[in-house]
Amino acid sequence: MKLLIVGPPGSGKGTQSLRMSRALGIPHVSTGALLRHAIRLGTPLGESACECVAAGHLVPDALVNELVRERLGHTTVRERGFLLDGFPRNRAQLDGLLSWLNPEALDAAIELAVPSEIVVQRLTSRGRTDDTEAGIDTRLGAYEVETSPMLRDLEAAGLLIPIAADRPIDVVTRDILASLAQHRAKPPTCLPMQRVAV
Ligand code: AMP
Repeated sequence: MKLLIVGPPGSGKGTQSLRMSRALGIPHVSTGALLRHAIRLGTPLGESACECVAAGHLVPDALVNELVRERLGHTTVRERGFLLDGFPRNRAQLDGLLSWLNPEALDAAIELAVPSEIVVQRLTSRGRTDDTEAGIDTRLGAYEVETSPMLRDLEAAGLLIPIAADRPIDVVTRDILASLAQHRAKPPTCLPMQRVAV
């Protein structure tokens, strides 16, 4: 299965991804986690990405695309599919992804929808180093400006499954898995992504 999970910072992407990945038996690929790992190790990628991550800006598309493209070549991903968490985050990244895959290969994109006041409350109590007041503002702005337009493309392609994520963790997980099963049971009715993406 080839899935995306999208949502503003603090919407629970990481938590829900781990649960989905376990329930569905597919590898979880989180660009945020890969970038934080590269930063901790001090690799060239980590050094290039460090300032952007700390400030809450998106890391340049070329760097993130390369990182994901490399991951998609791993044997487990080739054999079992993927759950991409935090990628794509804009139209250029979605176009990149579609150019490496058969455009009809994506099964669905789960959108975790959470009102921004709840997101801010969650992030300020989480304590990650990029969860500063300015960093949160920047990331929410990037989501609005860069990611939201891409969601419209996924919606137009019939791939978007919106999930209300301001509910208890277990309830959200059950809703995701049930909605996904329902989505997969439906015959595809929409245009291939390539024709829809702008
Ligand atoms: P996340 O763990 O998904 O909240 O991502 C943490 C940070 O990593 C983001 O604020 C960005 O700086 C960076 N990042 C993660 N994924 C991407 C991406 N697809 N494109 C650009 N930057 C990203």
